[in-house]
Amino acid sequence: MTKYADIVVPVPLWKLFTYGIPEETGLKLCQAESIAYEINIQIGSRVLVPFGKSNKLTTGIVWSIHNNKPEDYETKPIAQTLDNDPILFPQQLDLWKWISEYYFCPIGDVYRAALPAGLRLESESCFYLNPDFEPENQLSQNETIILDYISNKTSASILEINKIIGLKSAHRFVKQLLEINAIFVEEKVTQKYKTKKEKVLYLGTDFRSEEALSKVFDKLQKAPKQLELLMTFIQKSGSLKDALNGKRISRNKLFSKKDNLVGSQLDLLIKKNILQQETRIIDRLDFSDIATIPISTLSDEQTNALNEIKLGFEEKKPVLLHGVTSSGKTEIYITLIEEALNKNFQVLYILPEIALTTQITRRLKLRFGNKLGVYHSKYSDNERVEIWNDLLKNKNYRVIVGVRSAIFLPFSNLGLIIIDEEHENSFKQYDPSPRYHARDVALVLGKYFNANVLLGSATPSIESYYNTKIGKYILVELNSRYKGICLPEILLVDIKDAKKRKIMVSHFSPPLLELITKALEKKEQIILFQNRRGFAPYLECKGCGWVPKCKHCDVSLTYHKNINNLICHYCGYSVDVYFVCKACEMPALNAMGFGTQKIEEEIQKIFPETKVARLDLDTTRSKNSYDKILSDFEHGKVDILIGTQMVSKGLDFDRVSLVGILNADSLLNYPDFRAYEKSFQMLTQVSGRAGRKYSQGKVVIQTSNPKHQIFNYVYENNYTNFFKEQIEERQKHKYPPFHRLVFIVLKHKNFNTVIEASKILTNLLRSIFGNRIIGPFEPHINRISDYYLQQIILKLEKTASHQNAKIQLHNSINRLLSDEKFRYVFVSVDVDPY
Ligand code: ADP
Ligand code: ZN
Ligand code: ZN
Repeated sequence: MTKYADIVVPVPLWKLFTYGIPEETGLKLCQAESIAYEINIQIGSRVLVPFGKSNKLTTGIVWSIHNNKPEDYETKPIAQTLDNDPILFPQQLDLWKWISEYYFCPIGDVYRAALPAGLRLESESCFYLNPDFEPENQLSQNETIILDYISNKTSASILEINKIIGLKSAHRFVKQLLEINAIFVEEKVTQKYKTKKEKVLYLGTDFRSEEALSKVFDKLQKAPKQLELLMTFIQKSGSLKDALNGKRISRNKLFSKKDNLVGSQLDLLIKKNILQQETRIIDRLDFSDIATIPISTLSDEQTNALNEIKLGFEEKKPVLLHGVTSSGKTEIYITLIEEALNKNFQVLYILPEIALTTQITRRLKLRFGNKLGVYHSKYSDNERVEIWNDLLKNKNYRVIVGVRSAIFLPFSNLGLIIIDEEHENSFKQYDPSPRYHARDVALVLGKYFNANVLLGSATPSIESYYNTKIGKYILVELNSRYKGICLPEILLVDIKDAKKRKIMVSHFSPPLLELITKALEKKEQIILFQNRRGFAPYLECKGCGWVPKCKHCDVSLTYHKNINNLICHYCGYSVDVYFVCKACEMPALNAMGFGTQKIEEEIQKIFPETKVARLDLDTTRSKNSYDKILSDFEHGKVDILIGTQMVSKGLDFDRVSLVGILNADSLLNYPDFRAYEKSFQMLTQVSGRAGRKYSQGKVVIQTSNPKHQIFNYVYENNYTNFFKEQIEERQKHKYPPFHRLVFIVLKHKNFNTVIEASKILTNLLRSIFGNRIIGPFEPHINRISDYYLQQIILKLEKTASHQNAKIQLHNSINRLLSDEKFRYVFVSVDVDPY
């Protein structure tokens, strides 16, 4: 062995592992789809390597090839290559490296986040019978069962053996059998990605003439069912000529799968060779042609903005498009995409949430037809693999719309990146690691491709707007709505006062109810916003004040009325609703607070004739549920839409004239330095859903603190003053964009252990970073899934070396964990937390 390859493996480790490249070219290639290729090992391609104590085969990515034998360990050889060509280009590998370094996360974590699971083959241990085995002693009953099972099946996995024995773990017996050489073990690689196949039918070769066919018809007079089937087949072929030419028709098209009787008749036709059957591989993705419409002509204001954007691109700087809601930003994006496509570039369009992709996808599909691909987690892993492969081969897709994970796709010629709603914090992945911010990563990706990057928002993040102030980005503004429609009129309602005067009806103030009534009379639509899902956040005992809490977390359980359950929104723990208080045993549990579900129920009571729908996490679990709810609303099948923050984001409905924000206080009181920024953004964005197309809309904001300065900024739509106030606060208190924040969270099942560990780590860090270290303290929620939490904050000057800080932090954590007492303390690091 003279050559070595450094390989990334999908485990949370920082290191690359060096493997030997076997000299003989006889290296086997995975026989997936039973095609064998010539092999060569290339950077960015997949290989199977033995990993860990068990030497299980896992899929690694070739990172580099060299001649340096590692000094401190014996290398193992690469077992197989999986690809003929790389599945990752240098830009993607660079991006992985950047993410790992910037976000202090193991490269293996980036790998796991980046690649669809279907591209990651893993081996499983398979057990085989030793044919020469002669038992010396009596075997136990379980051992005999296992041996019998394996000999019948030729090989078996541990999972299969567990099932047969009816035990959770048959390991003990398998181990004994291995020891006495009754069985042996080999690693078998399983493919997770499965091609989609279908059975197709065609006219048998002996019957491909009108003459032969008419003879068949005569014969089949005695079997009318088969005759009917054959006729249907010819009809589905389009014409007799097509059928005679051997056109393939999907078996499923001929009759429904459940119809067993017809199935058996069909099998008779196949037996007689009148019809023949074969299996073929089909695409999961739909590439059928779609009628497209030309892109809109831009207004003068939009054209000016477009030209300014292009000037910015010429300066090789990212451009921030700050355009009020409904100013026509999306139409500008569409024009830019078209221009990039004309130059043969690929385009990436990222959005913060899947909920948003539906509408945008529809708008873009109309323009770009089947050049448009969509990529997010509601797609099956198999579908994601096919999108990946399509891009890799540069086949169909030219524009990709997706949420954050789309930044990992194997682009090769990216010319334009659009980051829509750039202020949204759902661009940040919190758990699991890598804890990356897709906007910031997309900016880096843009650099690697020398691509144009456009960020768009009606309420830019403080960070991005600040970047335009210091000349890092170019600012382009659109100050009025398309067609000059006025921004909505905002009405602040003091609910503290209304409650005092006892004029609230459930959670609705009289002005809001009055406006809802008027809008309904005019057949206009309404959106009601409540930033909490569920029926009520919690139950409370009227007698003693007891609140049901999660067994595993320090949070109260959320009451879900429709399924009569109490659910923990942190760990998913759920129990049936209690009828009596667990503390005082009185049947006095009351629903407290209110979520979207409660609002839905209450509004239906007040307006029984009205059609009401709800958009939140609970109603949108399945792939198409967003589509369904949004399209019902769009088509006027629903009058009032109630939602969480999901309704606030970039949705475009023509006939919404009224937006009600039921309780703005919960936004402002959130314990976070971004609370005011988020409130301003949320309120402005939700308001922006009103009166988009035909006339000025109205917004009702209910609050107990109407004098709060934030409402004034929202009311005046005064971003400039809002920014000025916020940026001063940020500077004063050493927050981003002036300082970089790093959160360090420690977790352990034992409270005392985590307290002690966090003190030690704090001291270690303070000796390096001084008063840049804050803590340790208990985070807002101090126990999740039975783990106690402690937090430390590092506030680092933007000018300080990030690389240095990373090394110091890493060393300190390793020092803590090297103490046996703290070995099982989890320490997670979050750079730029949100
Ligand atoms: P934004 O993205 O800024 O919220 P949109 O692009 O969604 O705004 O535009 C708001 C509405 O105005 C949409 O219904 C859109 O179709 C329409 N619109 C915007 N610009 C044009 C244009 N140039 N021609 C025709 N319709 C437009
Ligand atoms: Zn009680
Ligand atoms: Zn919980």
